[in-house]
Amino acid sequence: MQDKTFIADVRFERAHPDALAIYCSDGRFTEAVEQLLRHIGHPRLDTLTLPGGAALFNYLSAGFADHDALSRAATFLVRGHGIRHVVLLAHQGCGYYRARAMGRTDQEIVERQIHDLRFAARMLREANAGLDVLLFFARTEGERVAFDRISLGSGGLLGAEAISRV
Ligand SMILES: [Zn+2]
Repeated sequence: MQDKTFIADVRFERAHPDALAIYCSDGRFTEAVEQLLRHIGHPRLDTLTLPGGAALFNYLSAGFADHDALSRAATFLVRGHGIRHVVLLAHQGCGYYRARAMGRTDQEIVERQIHDLRFAARMLREANAGLDVLLFFARTEGERVAFDRISLGSGGLLGAEAISRV
């Protein structure tokens, strides 16, 4: 790049988007996630990406420091930017989970990721009344990325289910 200043051709919109996507930093999924968000009616979005994504809401998966950092960031965006829709995503082959797998099989890791998505959804909905939360699991299908919709599940934030499945 030779010019000192680069001017993007996309138009700047002053109003904040009302959708927030929280997902893993893994750049192999970034464009596909943005396409999914457009597909479900959110052409503009705030993003919160950290390795592990929504896993960090669950202090049993991520530890208290990461849990605290992600929770405070999400609360800031929801309240400060007027977010009404949150999309939480996990993905197949996530390095964050693999690094903490501790002998778990691939299937057990996926179950853990889905558990963490639901845990995060309950936490966000309990903290922010009326917030619309959608969950997706991203996986590869041939040379494309497929997104499976995950139900919100049931049970309380700190109910027996959350504890017993650790
Ligand atoms: Zn990941």
